[in-house]
Amino acid sequence: MVYVCGKCGAEVKSTDDGIVRCFSCGHKILYKKRDSIAKTIKVD
Ligand SMILES: [Zn+2]
Repeated sequence: MVYVCGKCGAEVKSTDDGIVRCFSCGHKILYKKRDSIAKTIKVD
């Protein structure tokens, strides 16, 4: 599962231990990354 840091926006992968923390800034609040389920929003 890939998460996105709620502070700096870095992508964070959860570990096998289930510990999820941003490796970049140490922030603990992460959001699940929405990939294929995302709404179709095109900004060209
Ligand atoms: Zn971060």
